[in-house]
Amino acid sequence: MPINADHSTDIPLSHPDITQAEIDAVVEVLRSGRLSIGPRQDLFEQLVAERTGRTHGVAASSGTAGLHMVMLALNIGPGDEVITTPFSFIASANCILMAGATPVFVDVCPRSLNLDPRRVEAAITPRTRAVVAVEVFGNPMHMDQLERVCRRHEVSLVEDACEGLGGVLGDRPIGGFGRASVFGFYPNKQVTTGEGGMVVTDDDRLSDLCRSLRNQGRSPTAHAPTGGTTGQGGSWLAHERLGYNYRMSEINAALGVVQIQRLDDMLIKRRRVAGMYFQQLLDCQDLVLPTIPEGHEASWSPFVFVVRLVRDFGVQERDRIIHGLRRHGIGASNYFPPIHLQAPYRERFGHEAGEFPICEAASHRTIALPFFNDLDETQVELACHTLRNLIQRERVGLR
Ligand SMILES: *Cc1c(COP(=O)(O)O)cnc(C)c1O
Repeated sequence: MPINADHSTDIPLSHPDITQAEIDAVVEVLRSGRLSIGPRQDLFEQLVAERTGRTHGVAASSGTAGLHMVMLALNIGPGDEVITTPFSFIASANCILMAGATPVFVDVCPRSLNLDPRRVEAAITPRTRAVVAVEVFGNPMHMDQLERVCRRHEVSLVEDACEGLGGVLGDRPIGGFGRASVFGFYPNKQVTTGEGGMVVTDDDRLSDLCRSLRNQGRSPTAHAPTGGTTGQGGSWLAHERLGYNYRMSEINAALGVVQIQRLDDMLIKRRRVAGMYFQQLLDCQDLVLPTIPEGHEASWSPFVFVVRLVRDFGVQERDRIIHGLRRHGIGASNYFPPIHLQAPYRERFGHEAGEFPICEAASHRTIALPFFNDLDETQVELACHTLRNLIQRERVGLR
């Protein structure tokens, strides 16, 4: 296979959408002298809370930190079970381990690849305290059903909304389901702060606990000494509980403020790119394209664009196609390997292949294609053309 030496055609898997407005906002923070615990964090929290119809936003240093704080604020710990999906980025299960609780995986729905509400209900035991559910790749399907199941059984729904900011289900925004929801702002997300995250909730107590946990266990109302660096002690050095430093800096928050204000424009761009992929690949018999719930095409917040090979193909064929794309300078990835088969889960709980067949079958056949706001038509065409050729080659090999 010829290796494409012309790297000017390289198409990354993802790329942040940063304009002069973001650059100016960050420079302004640097000039202000207030680099942490300041007005930009407050404003960013307010904007994300408003966007999701929540009363409180608590910014954090990452989505994972946000999830960890929610587990602790719900008083989840050793002896407790938390139901979650094996098909996700690993942080949605790791937060359960970080709190000392036991993750209980259940298989996903084959269409949406999100937690299957019926399987969740069947897995609830007297020890179940919460369900951590994810809108995988930005697909909001079943979150309302999961909310009903959790309510019926009096367990907390924690929405890991890290892949869905800006999307809605019916008339309800992602980030508005369950006791608390968590966003992540890593550079491949719909909104980025470089690194960062946020808990949103309507629960005053949970919000206060998260504020305390992110700030070394200080009182949720503790104020940093003016200037932030020359404290005189007082309430600033009183710690009510074991806490963490999970704060978000003003630099990150300033970036987030501009990004969330641009979110609607960015979503239009993302849906346009997704539309180009659908157009290019709709007739490809070897691929299953992402499922968007009917009537939700215009309210979808695509996070990544992940296609699946049909059942004729195995994991080796899939991996060769991904490597082939990369050799051609086209970013590609295997979102997501099953979480229960990752080392920490195999080692601790003895999980084995075959336990969650729907998740595993999907994991073996997914190909994430380049997806970012400014991807142009030529790049999408090149990615799809290359993908089709690589699939064709594997088809021939399968005969
Ligand atoms: C991105 C993401 C997170 C959070 O990631 P951080 O890198 O910690 O911000 C959590 N869960 C899911 C499903 C994610 O995709």
